[in-house]
Amino acid sequence: MQTGTSGQAQQDCAVVIVGGGPCGLMLAIELGRRNIPTVVLDEKVQPSRFPSANATQARTMEHYRRLGFAEKVRARGLPPDYPTDIAYFTRFTTYELARFSLPSAREAREMVRTLTGSWSAAELPHRVSQIFVEDVLREEAAALPSVALRTGWRMTAMRDEGAHVAVEAERSDGDGHTTLRAAYAVGADGGGSRTRKMLGYNYVGESGAVRDFVGGRMFAIHIRSAPLYDTIPFPRAWMYWAVNRERRAFLPSVNGRDEFTFHTQLRADEQADRISDAQAKSMFHVSLGAELDVDIIGRSTWNAGYTLVTEKYRRGRIFLGGDAAHLFTPTGGLGYNTAVEDAVNLGWKLAAVLTGWGGPALLDSYEAERQALARRNTTYARGFADSVGLYVPPPELEDDTPEGEAARKKASEHFNYHARFEFNIPGITFGGRYDGSPIIVGDGTVPPPDKPNEYVPTACPGGRAPHLWLGDGRSIYDTFGFEFTLLRLGGKAPDAGPFETAARAQAVPMTVVDVAAEEARDLYQADLALIRPDQIVAWRGNATADAAHVLRQASGH
Ligand SMILES: Cc1cc2nc3c(=O)[nH]c(=O)nc-3n(C[C@H](O)[C@H](O)[C@H](O)COP(=O)(O)OP(=O)(O)OC[C@H]3O[C@@H](n4cnc5c(N)ncnc54)[C@H](O)[C@@H]3O)c2cc1C
Repeated sequence: MQTGTSGQAQQDCAVVIVGGGPCGLMLAIELGRRNIPTVVLDEKVQPSRFPSANATQARTMEHYRRLGFAEKVRARGLPPDYPTDIAYFTRFTTYELARFSLPSAREAREMVRTLTGSWSAAELPHRVSQIFVEDVLREEAAALPSVALRTGWRMTAMRDEGAHVAVEAERSDGDGHTTLRAAYAVGADGGGSRTRKMLGYNYVGESGAVRDFVGGRMFAIHIRSAPLYDTIPFPRAWMYWAVNRERRAFLPSVNGRDEFTFHTQLRADEQADRISDAQAKSMFHVSLGAELDVDIIGRSTWNAGYTLVTEKYRRGRIFLGGDAAHLFTPTGGLGYNTAVEDAVNLGWKLAAVLTGWGGPALLDSYEAERQALARRNTTYARGFADSVGLYVPPPELEDDTPEGEAARKKASEHFNYHARFEFNIPGITFGGRYDGSPIIVGDGTVPPPDKPNEYVPTACPGGRAPHLWLGDGRSIYDTFGFEFTLLRLGGKAPDAGPFETAARAQAVPMTVVDVAAEEARDLYQADLALIRPDQIVAWRGNATADAAHVLRQASGH
């Protein structure tokens, strides 16, 4: 480590990110796109190939679009024409109980241009395994000149030394040690976060929810079987659920050809490390309702029943994001998506402060904004887990009798309702808000109520900029600048001059975009709207008199 002439230790980079999962990689991309020297440490030599997350929500896809790689992500995973239905069965080969049909990747691309209201968006969700998303994130991060990805390096200690943070790391094989000095460090090191523990922060919330399903210790196998689709006598689905009294399970398709993951809950008398491959296969056979030989590619265990958020997100120069800051039950598919949005939120703020135009309130606003969102999202996920997991299959559910038929009819009603409750969530994905944040300039209006399955577009400051497709076929988001954007909406918007002058004086990067369509003015209910780099409305209004004040507050001064 070199020492500068002033006696102050020089920095190796501006930001050290511990953890190269979705949160760490997305943060590296946000920083790298702004040319901020960034080092990502990940203890794994090779990325995990065990599929965990399966759903990329629409808002996450909109961020990937902003960064230019949404299409790359949408091309991964399932084949373009593969339906993304969620289907419920007693066993995968016996009775189908319920189905929620959703578009293939190809249909989603076209459909999004026709949707209004709750699904007025630039992107629809994409059902894709996390392993494929991480491949894209890794490629995107690695391509940025200011980002260094160091795999096989484990962070062992971190100290905030006042003027900088020192991060100790050792090679995962034990053969090497380094100390990195940076302006900031971010612990994106997952559920076991050493960073969080070092900061002395606890998760707060519920950790031991018990349910008939998705409430307890889960066991998963990643399997390969080409004939499985021929064995299941129902239309293809993206995610199959088995609902019976013997072995409940869910089975997402990984590649739409021959790879799946089978997740089931362990009973009190089952221990994952004592389960042989043969036993794991027979667990699968019980849920399948048939015998079919499969190859086991990998196995994993995880806990269902967490609703946890860390008590603090920051101490001095050290931040937490992703699973290090919150743990979900995966119902609703929100853990990785919330992790990505943490990175989006923190990325532009760190870059703004490092570049010089961001004020001190910017970094404080990270916790103010993201902790509330994590509490909201973990609570929604818990509600979905209750909805699916507290349902107890009645004894006659699988009987070939009138009573069995009646029980299946009731189950069908429950799961047809549940599927739409858990998997049609525009309100959650688009409706997250930062009301009360110190960097949001409120206008006294009240946003629509927060509902999981309904999103009401609103430019009430603190929420996602309402979306619309422009006459030339572009998404309004495609016109935004990379940092702040001042939208002039409709035909009578005042001159942007005072905002431009203030932005220049404060060195805040800002693009002015004219959207002449009156429809846009109606949607935003204002002549002007200031949009943050993360596409959140920072302010809206009809006059420019307060331009300097608005920009100062929005940039954290
Ligand atoms: C079965 C299952 C299904 C899921 N489904 C969904 C879903 O559909 N949608 C969804 O949004 N989420 C889902 N999730 C959750 C999702 O997988 C996680 O929320 C997501 O991986 C969190 O990303 P992260 O970057 O915060 O942490 P992680 O992905 O855990 O990454 C942390 C990284 O930090 C590294 N690391 C840890 N300690 C150190 C250290 N000391 N030094 C260096 N590196 C370190 C690790 O190697 C790892 O690469 C699911 C999870 C499971 C288990």
